[in-house]
Amino acid sequence: MSITSNLHKELESLPEGVKLVAVSKFHSVDDIMEAYVAGQRIFGESRVQELIPKHEALPKDIEWHFIGHLQTNKVKYITPFIHTIHSIDSFKLLEEVDKSARQTGRIINILLQIHVAQEENKFGFSEEECLEMLSKGEWKALENVQICGLMGMASFTENTEQIRKEYQSLALFFRKLKSKHFSDCQYFKELSMGMSDDYPIAVEEGSTMVRIGTGIFGTRIA
Ligand SMILES: *Cc1c(COP(=O)(O)O)cnc(C)c1O
Repeated sequence: MSITSNLHKELESLPEGVKLVAVSKFHSVDDIMEAYVAGQRIFGESRVQELIPKHEALPKDIEWHFIGHLQTNKVKYITPFIHTIHSIDSFKLLEEVDKSARQTGRIINILLQIHVAQEENKFGFSEEECLEMLSKGEWKALENVQICGLMGMASFTENTEQIRKEYQSLALFFRKLKSKHFSDCQYFKELSMGMSDDYPIAVEEGSTMVRIGTGIFGTRIA
């Protein structure tokens, strides 16, 4: 299967209104270009040092999404062009993105990453930490970031009922935050959940954005 036919197959399986982030980490500029020529414009990367040269080499109308763990000292390298950051997991990081975005005169879309999986090694706010941050209200003063929703990763397991439960709890938390903190906010509407192996479940549970890598580009080399 080619990248083009994989992409078309994934797009056909997504309901209207669910955005596809093509996760291109560890894949070459040529592979990304094939997906671009096939019409894809949203790409996701998880490492700053990999994203920078790809951004330089590829067409400028690509909408780049950052989906990996982000260190505060690397923020400044991506704020000049990044469209959405899915992986904000502390107020400190949010502040840093805001500061850096202000210096480049941009407004950056933010998703708060919530830890819903049972595995300890995944990043993200716990629900309590996230609620605490939002209740404090300092984030409202940050004018160069827009909190557009939540991102979460389910456990890496074959147990589809567990995956479903995790996505359900994330969707429930999303609705809770929407009514508690973002009821007047037009742009708080994104729920980024679902990867190659589990996105049909995520979509059933209300995902608005799926992040698919292997299903489009094949197995990663690294
Ligand atoms: C790598 C990655 C994906 C894509 O995973 P696939 O299984 O290749 O679809 C999605 N989200 C995040 C955060 C990732 O790091």
